[in-house]
Amino acid sequence: MNTPIYEGKAKQIFAGTEPNTYLIRFKDDATAGNGEKHAVLDNKGVLNAAISNLIYRHLAQNGVPTHLIKVIGETDILVRAAKIIPLEVIVRNVAAGSFSKKYGVAEGSELKSRVVEFSLKDDSLGDPMLSPSHILALGIAAEEEIFDVTVQALKINELLTELFAKAGIRLIDFKVEFGKTDDGNIILCDEISPDSCRLWDINTNEKMDKDRFRRDLGNVMDYYAEVLRRLQAAI
Ligand code: UDP
Repeated sequence: MNTPIYEGKAKQIFAGTEPNTYLIRFKDDATAGNGEKHAVLDNKGVLNAAISNLIYRHLAQNGVPTHLIKVIGETDILVRAAKIIPLEVIVRNVAAGSFSKKYGVAEGSELKSRVVEFSLKDDSLGDPMLSPSHILALGIAAEEEIFDVTVQALKINELLTELFAKAGIRLIDFKVEFGKTDDGNIILCDEISPDSCRLWDINTNEKMDKDRFRRDLGNVMDYYAEVLRRLQAAI
């Protein structure tokens, strides 16, 4: 188990202890700007694993199929094997980040309707944005699969907006990744944590997510710990 099959920026993947499974280990490393900025944030792996596991259990209980089988340790989970669809699926409720920059909309502006956006998961190309017709033309996914992923992403958004609101947090936007199992089902993979969501305090709009690292706002892990504490109290 000591050599990962794959090592990403924030996670390591090992062979699983059961057939058709993998073990995922959350790391303390944080990167931003396509890997240009890097730091090791003490305890990030433990906090993100705990937050993501809590969220994935909540989603599974509400009918969203996920890769999570069981929690193995503080930073380790056993997951179902799935072939990752190389798409970053982003859902936006409020303008922020690249959306604000690209379309000239102030951060924090409410959107008239939800945005579902796709990017190609490829750091060397800078994760370019894709329309559904790009996805079809490049053979990344079929039409029914794009539909399935969109419906699941919107359902995740509904469930998480409500869950975070109970925790006194506004879900601004988030990114999810999906994979295809051997039997052809599309399931939620990867993680959902403050690394992959924008989370603002519902009263003060204070940022409680990775933007604290990206923008050097400080006390990054204190805010991640607060997200976990509030979610545990809300669930
Ligand atoms: N995001 C992510 N991984 C990426 C790009 C974006 O998890 O490689 C998340 C990000 O944390 C935010 C949402 O997706 O919650 C939308 O990000 P955006 O497109 O605004 O990009 P950014 O401003 O982070 O470059």
